[in-house]
Amino acid sequence: MARYIFITGGVVSSLGKGLASAALGALLQARGYTVRLRKLDPYLNVDPGTMSPFEHGEVFVTDDGAETDLDLGHYERFTGVAARNSDSVSSGRVYSTVLEKERRGDYLGKTIQVVPHVTDEIKEFLKIGEDEVDFMLCEIGGTVGDIEGLPFFEAIRQFSHDKSRDQCIFMHLTLLPYLAASGELKTKPTQHSVKELQSIGIAPDILVCRSEHPIPDKERAKIGLFCNVRKEAVVAAYDLGSIYEAPLAYHEQGLDQAVLDAFGIAPAPKPNLDVWHDVQDRIHNPEGEVTVAIVGKYVQLEDAYKSIKEALTHGGMANRVKVRVEWVDAELFDREDAAPHLERFNAILVPGGFGERGTEGKIKAAQFAREKGVPYLGICLGMQMAVIEAARNVAGIEAAGSEEFDHEAGVRRFEPVVYHLKEWVQGNHTVARRADDDKGGTMRLGAYDANLEDGSRVAKVYGTTAIEERHRHRYEVDTKYRAQLEEHGLSFSGMSPDGKLPEIVEWADHPWFIGVQFHPELKSKPFAPHPLFKDFVRAAVDNSRLV
Ligand code: GLN
Repeated sequence: MARYIFITGGVVSSLGKGLASAALGALLQARGYTVRLRKLDPYLNVDPGTMSPFEHGEVFVTDDGAETDLDLGHYERFTGVAARNSDSVSSGRVYSTVLEKERRGDYLGKTIQVVPHVTDEIKEFLKIGEDEVDFMLCEIGGTVGDIEGLPFFEAIRQFSHDKSRDQCIFMHLTLLPYLAASGELKTKPTQHSVKELQSIGIAPDILVCRSEHPIPDKERAKIGLFCNVRKEAVVAAYDLGSIYEAPLAYHEQGLDQAVLDAFGIAPAPKPNLDVWHDVQDRIHNPEGEVTVAIVGKYVQLEDAYKSIKEALTHGGMANRVKVRVEWVDAELFDREDAAPHLERFNAILVPGGFGERGTEGKIKAAQFAREKGVPYLGICLGMQMAVIEAARNVAGIEAAGSEEFDHEAGVRRFEPVVYHLKEWVQGNHTVARRADDDKGGTMRLGAYDANLEDGSRVAKVYGTTAIEERHRHRYEVDTKYRAQLEEHGLSFSGMSPDGKLPEIVEWADHPWFIGVQFHPELKSKPFAPHPLFKDFVRAAVDNSRLV
């Protein structure tokens, strides 16, 4: 039976709860425990799949096809444990389940209320898989005191009451603001935030205090005294140069020890932190630097491409170089020449995206990379754009485009080299999509197998011809054009097992040009960089030596 760690936040948002949870997960693993991390989000969207990347950042997709919060990406990157659909829940999903049950008559005519029906549903969710791991870390989104978070706080309070005393602990993240005028760290907001928690029946066992300045011992003691937490359980969280320093930094501040103490686990198993020392060494001691352009649409909010940025960092760590990422707005050269915008980069990455805006610029980026021999990695929409570029400029299909853009505009302008897929095979069953389906959940989502052509670049990069990668898209490259494109040198080197869906294309005579229909970035980890990103960065390094 798992022990539960509930992670909440107070004072302000964006304190790095997700990172603290992920780092703690990694530290518990380093002590030999198994973990699973979960996110409970108070917003009313059923899942983040339909939320704008500008609003909410990237949608993280799991193997089992759930569209989840980007914090699940952190969890997976730090622990290597593949996230599941059941690791992410929002108020929207909880309410929609409760209302479905009510309509079905499951509640036998009872009046449906937040307590107990909504809270019970949350508690059921928390229990999923509780026999599988030693520790379940559950992060509550938002800050204590938010109106919409209340059912979650009530549910975790009840949950800890239902379980035995030594099975649940509460960890609360706060901020210690620094007043420059008096040169002091202020503890009052933390005290208030803990009071707020206590007023709903939750007494934190551990306080993690974000601070820009060292927390003096006497302040730590004061926080402990006023918040009813042992002094050793007041853990400092200082700003870090890289998120991957977090496990070691938290270990130094005693977080994992405080957690084991709170559960009364003694003697504590010794941690093995070799992996994280190696990660830290690679981050701090790069032997060179490359600059990669990400040519996208959501460039104003870096979180929209969170996993890609991290995967590039991992690729850099594998090659012992620092990867500088620059965001280039594709719309800048929708109409003009791309060269002045792209010339100074060692490699170009065109990420996933939806809708037509900026796509002409992305097509130009693919053309620039192909013609100039610059390493190119096209992900999802980035692969589709590379295929359209090849069709238009190499194979002579001048009107080549994607059905997605015609659908959006309501007119037929393009020859659909990329078309809307209505039916496909997943494992051993067929999935069908109807025109009137809801927006949510109508994509090819989650893990799918692909077969790679023997001798292709991708087969070399992966070191195998059978792979499994995560998908999130509605449109596919049409195999109708395969022969024509291959004749001109664009090879379809990765296909779905039934041979119907192109998964990877590559220019065989180019130094490094690969487009993938899936999202490799979602599976990359600092201690296990994804092979595509590792080799893409290597190609960028080679390219940087040429200029
Ligand atoms: N918009 C494209 C599609 O739906 C690409 C999606 C993506 O890049 N994730 O197929």
